[in-house]
Amino acid sequence: EPVNIIMIGMAGSGKTTLMQRINAYLHEQNKAPYVVNLDPAVSKLPFQANIDIRDTVDYKQVMSEYNLGPNGGILTSLNLFTTKLDQVVSLVEKRASTTKYFLYDTPGQIEIFTWSASGAIITNTLAATYPTVVVYVVDTPRTASPATFMSNMMYACSILYKTQLPFLVAFNKTDVVGHEFAVEWMEDFEAFQRALRQQEDESFMNSLMHSMSLVLDEFYSHLRVVGVSAMTGQGMEAFFGKVDEAVKEYHDEFRPAMERQM
Ligand code: GDP
Ligand code: MG
Repeated sequence: EPVNIIMIGMAGSGKTTLMQRINAYLHEQNKAPYVVNLDPAVSKLPFQANIDIRDTVDYKQVMSEYNLGPNGGILTSLNLFTTKLDQVVSLVEKRASTTKYFLYDTPGQIEIFTWSASGAIITNTLAATYPTVVVYVVDTPRTASPATFMSNMMYACSILYKTQLPFLVAFNKTDVVGHEFAVEWMEDFEAFQRALRQQEDESFMNSLMHSMSLVLDEFYSHLRVVGVSAMTGQGMEAFFGKVDEAVKEYHDEFRPAMERQM
């Protein structure tokens, strides 16, 4: 059965590079994936996309035609593309008997996908067809300070609650900094608070921490994490192990919930 994998993450976290790495890894395993690029503004793709939003819309032209800035141009391009989503779905369905993994790269600016109607429509449409996993890509070296870690995890948390889909946090760039600190902070809130206390203003922290800890502890308990390096390929097997777990969750929890709503 096919699996949709949607890459989400802050600009520069390594979504596109990770797509390339996963693509290469699956090719080596003789499981060539089907690759979809949903970023209209990417200048150069390091992989061959089966479907490329840039073939449908020229975001620079959209910008000038509708007199928009870059973000408006990307959002409008995504909206235009979404009007043809049924064609994407039928292409995917044609390949579903021979292809296991369908990979979706999203725009560099995370909020364009996660907080737009189009992003929600694309995500929900995919999830209604096949098991769908959201991979939240984190720039591990850039999230090694407690404050950035917390804001990144809050963002991940808001996306999880919005999509309600099986979720996997991929700590990328482990060739630069290992993700062990992140696992420790997620498993042991005291350790995280100690780290934060070393950096931040105490009074601000105490009140903030109290409310955050309740939210994040609950969030972490549902979370699947893996460390990867898109650069070296480290962690690919573990990544697919977690994807399998997420697919199981899709069948056990997401799918029944969706059917109850229908
Ligand atoms: P995107 O905006 O999320 O699609 O990020 P990109 O895939 O374009 O990557 C942003 C930058 O991070 C590029 O310069 C990549 O070469 C670099 N990068 C991505 N993955 C890794 C990694 O695993 N290790 C290292 N060291 N750099 C990476
Ligand atoms: Mg990208």
